[in-house]
Amino acid sequence: MNKVAVVSGSNKGIGYAIVRGLCKQFNGDVILTSRDESRGREAVSSLEKEGLHPKFHQLDIEDASSIEQLKEHLVQNYGGLDVLVNNAGFAFKQAATEPFSEQAEVTVRINYLGTLAVMKAMMPILRSGARVANVSSLAGSYAFQKCSKPLQSKLQAADTIDAVTDLMTCFVQSAKNNTLETEGWPSSAYGTSKLGLCMLSSIIQKHFDADSTRSDIIINACCPGHVDTQMTDHMGSKTIDEGAETPLLLALLPPNVSEPRGQFMTEGKIEDW
Ligand code: NDP
Repeated sequence: MNKVAVVSGSNKGIGYAIVRGLCKQFNGDVILTSRDESRGREAVSSLEKEGLHPKFHQLDIEDASSIEQLKEHLVQNYGGLDVLVNNAGFAFKQAATEPFSEQAEVTVRINYLGTLAVMKAMMPILRSGARVANVSSLAGSYAFQKCSKPLQSKLQAADTIDAVTDLMTCFVQSAKNNTLETEGWPSSAYGTSKLGLCMLSSIIQKHFDADSTRSDIIINACCPGHVDTQMTDHMGSKTIDEGAETPLLLALLPPNVSEPRGQFMTEGKIEDW
């Protein structure tokens, strides 16, 4: 069976460029996914015009049955998964008028809980040597720095997936209760959701490292840089292909690398925070 790579949210932006890069560099099938089938198929057609041949599968990371259908497709057609790039993400615009409590709930639901749901489904089918790249953001690191010291200690002590999820739930609840400041949370929903994603990557790597049959699987998080996409209202200075460079590096890490493992990478470098 062929090897296979999957990129979430790849009908446009950085995800689209990651699919383009994988089509050129990955030795196997590359699946472009989109929550909207017509947008996804259009993206596939446009890459076909460049002589590339990604496959398409629908994937809405907020929809458990959509995730399950993709998993079934992978199991039936490939017997597993070799590369997973969790790129799908969402950010409210600066000018958004939705109350912060709603922004917190929606952003954590997509960026953290959605990605976690994909991870939980796909972890069991990751094949030996698989690579996972979580497209996070430096905003996660800034969010951590803005947390109160006691909260930073709590975040650092969270060493299970459930503990991180509990903290993300606390953030959303705190936004609803209007107690962010007293509980030491930053006022960035996007940054907090991406902080959760980075924590998740490091904890999941520890799970793999603890299992001698799966310790050759590597998961990392990264920041793509400030990229010219719809998310940034096209204010980013990098092209989508430049933004795809670090996620691609993590998706294509060669065998037996000691680093990065469960770490955070930006501009091709490992960052500790
Ligand atoms: P875009 O807004 O251009 O693309 C986001 C992609 O995610 C789209 O394909 C979108 O689909 C998809 N998506 C959103 N929600 C869901 C969902 N529930 N299920 C499946 N797909 C979904 O953003 P970028 O390309 O800029 O961002 C890609 C990633 O990079 C994100 O995780 C973002 O947070 C991160 N990032 C981006 C930076 C930048 O400067 N651009 C900086 C740091 C991090 P649809 O078209 O249907 O909305």
